[in-house]
Parts: sequence; structure tokens; C-alpha cells
Amino acid sequence: MDTELAEIARAGGCHCSGRLHRGNYPRKPRCCPDEVYGDFDWRYSFSCNLCRKRTTPVSVRFLGRRVYLGLAVVLMSAGRTEATSAVGKLSGITNVPVNTIQRWRNWWASEFPLTPLWQAACARFMPPVELVQLPASLIERFKGTEAESMLRFLFFLSPLTIERLITMNEGC
Ligand SMILES: [Zn+2]
Repeated sequence: MDTELAEIARAGGCHCSGRLHRGNYPRKPRCCPDEVYGDFDWRYSFSCNLCRKRTTPVSVRFLGRRVYLGLAVVLMSAGRTEATSAVGKLSGITNVPVNTIQRWRNWWASEFPLTPLWQAACARFMPPVELVQLPASLIERFKGTEAESMLRFLFFLSPLTIERLITMNEGC
């Protein structure tokens, strides 16, 4: 899907009417299984042959500049319990620090509802999505098998992946 999204961005060219050339960014993703690491250790990006400006397409693999995969951020934020022991257990299984998981959960609760993406889209969901249960309450609104609804959800989130509004991206 990222390949298709990148092709759309490349075909659109630069706003200065220059041509876009491949200039991918290296990434060092965390929470990425070894067997697929090679599919995730870079991100599509282009640079213009005239003005040199970068164009980085939206992505379903990465959520902004966070070093953890988008899927990991979503899955670990979607636990329905706020119990500290549950977060600690999750942290033990995944090696993601407890305070990182808590920061992700806080982002869903306090920052995500304020994003232009959600401000523009929230009225399309009826009945209204329960914000206290984000992101689980939103994932379940996307149809299909678990994998399909997760992919649709990551695609829905993809405009966030190029926004500078993600405020908790330093190092996590
Ligand atoms: Zn340009």
C-alpha cells in the first residue's frame, strides 16, 4: 500500500512543477519482526530536481516520526484496560517501556481528537466514537476481518503520518 501511495505522490510532482526523484529515508524501526525488517527499515521520500524540496508520501507503515511501527503503536494503545499492571505486562512482552505505552495512550486520549484529521472525519461516524476508548473504539468501525479493518484503520490514519502536529514523536 505504501508503494501505491508513494507512486501517487511521485506522479503528482513538485508544486514548483519539477520532477520528483527517489530519495528514501533510512529507518530503524522498533517492534519490527526480523523476518520483515527489510520491508520497514526505510521510508519512501522524494526530492525535486529543480527546487530540491522533499516530498514524503503518507504511509501505513509509520506513524509520523515515531521509531515504533504504526501497527505497534496502534495495537499497544488499544488495550481496553488502564490498569498499570496490564501495561507493565505488555511492556514485558514487547520490550516497549511502560512510559512510552502510557504516552501513546495519552496521545490518543488528548492529542488525536484535536488533529485536523479527526476534526474533519469525526462527524462521519455514527453513533459517535467513544473517545475514552480510542483507538479500539475507532478500529472496530472499519469493516472486514481483523487484518482488513486494521489496514483500513492505518490507511485512515495515514494523513497523520506527514503532519507536524504529532507532538509526541521525539524518540518514540
Ligand atoms: Zn520543486
